[in-house]
Amino acid sequence: MTSFKTVWEGLATSEENELKSISDGYLRFLGLAKTESEAVDFFVNELTDRGFFDLESADRLVPGSKFYLNHIGRTLAAGIIGKNGVKNGLYIIASHIDSPRLDLKPKPLYDDSETNTSLLKTNYYGGVKKYQWVNHPLALHGKIFTKEGNCIKLSIGESDSDPIFIIPDLLPHLAKMQTDRKLFDGINAEELNPIFSSMPGDTKEDKFKNHVLKILKERYGIEEEDLASADLCLVPAGKARESGIDSSMIAGYGHDDKASAYTSFRAFIDLNDPEDTVLVLFFDKEEIGSQGTSGSQSNFLEFVTSLILHKLQGRYDHFELTSLLRRSNVISSDVNAAMDPSFKGAHDTYNAGRLGSGIIVTKYTGSGGKYGGSEAPAEFVAFLRVIFQKYNVRYQFGTLGKVDEGGGGTIAQDFARFGMNVIDAGSPVLGMHAPFELVSKADLWSCYRAYLAFMKH
Ligand code: MN
Ligand code: MN
Repeated sequence: MTSFKTVWEGLATSEENELKSISDGYLRFLGLAKTESEAVDFFVNELTDRGFFDLESADRLVPGSKFYLNHIGRTLAAGIIGKNGVKNGLYIIASHIDSPRLDLKPKPLYDDSETNTSLLKTNYYGGVKKYQWVNHPLALHGKIFTKEGNCIKLSIGESDSDPIFIIPDLLPHLAKMQTDRKLFDGINAEELNPIFSSMPGDTKEDKFKNHVLKILKERYGIEEEDLASADLCLVPAGKARESGIDSSMIAGYGHDDKASAYTSFRAFIDLNDPEDTVLVLFFDKEEIGSQGTSGSQSNFLEFVTSLILHKLQGRYDHFELTSLLRRSNVISSDVNAAMDPSFKGAHDTYNAGRLGSGIIVTKYTGSGGKYGGSEAPAEFVAFLRVIFQKYNVRYQFGTLGKVDEGGGGTIAQDFARFGMNVIDAGSPVLGMHAPFELVSKADLWSCYRAYLAFMKH
């Protein structure tokens, strides 16, 4: 078996320190940002601390201007105008900050007096193996908007004194009704009902549900119908952790795609006086197909770019916008699968990315005959090889699984449609879309270095 070089081999002391700084920062970020809104809040805080200003309120942009644009608190752009302005196009790194989870339905709360409980109805978000989400500590995150215009932010289940929520699976002693099910149907969608309470109130009807409504009213001032004007979801509770006896990995929720979001953000804020204008974009809704106002299929990119042109030059026309987009370069920074040690059969072992061998450059996505994916032109791959060599980035090429075994797409196509050069590149991940996923610290560092190299080029 071919042995692939790992990033760990031959690390200089300064590189080791940088690697530690990235993985420490990432652990902290993962603990604070489990939803897209929380990620946007985290980034906006960091940006304003560093003197970045709101692009919409800016009068003019000049080389060196540092700005951000926050779209409905769920999607974010941040940029720095380069010394060359936009002459050589934009250098963009785009990731997504939503991760698979269990959303609450608009009418989530129901009473089940037969079992002395109240429960929540959920609708899973993104591609999950549903059986992985039972018997796992879950936290309730999100925002509730009342008719009075109040916004109540919730995060229940993260501090040690908070309660967590559990969807109990059937005990093995009585699981005959599950034995004929296929693995993926071990738990069905409508069985993903976390138990929300088990103490009765003093009403005759719906005494468990009514007790919960009383608590919600007292604690948060909300009524039952407020739960419909809410973005609430259940995510795995607790902090990300170092993993492995050598602490070489990080186990946590949401590496897809917060590993890319965080490392591109770190590279971006560590960038000094870029030659060309750089943008980092953080999108919502990727896990459900990128549609929607906060997804990459919206006109967010065009809006940001036209604002930049307008404020940089004092004028703007559509031709200028389309020609700027056409000469821009993009890394669609999204994770890829690391070869699974116990399921090697799912991969073309010759072309699979390895844990610890660095950022995976994915020339094309899609499934079967490359269907539905985006493919980078070879010239652009060569350009990346040149800059990765220039900045000593350790990287690997990889594909997602065996041909005809499955596949997937990313937001790359939403850039490709403007005629931009775009390629996927991100960290290898094991257990992708599971409540707890695994990445290598070495790969996080490699991503950081690769994104920094791209923005410097
Ligand atoms: Mn992803
Ligand atoms: Mn995903």
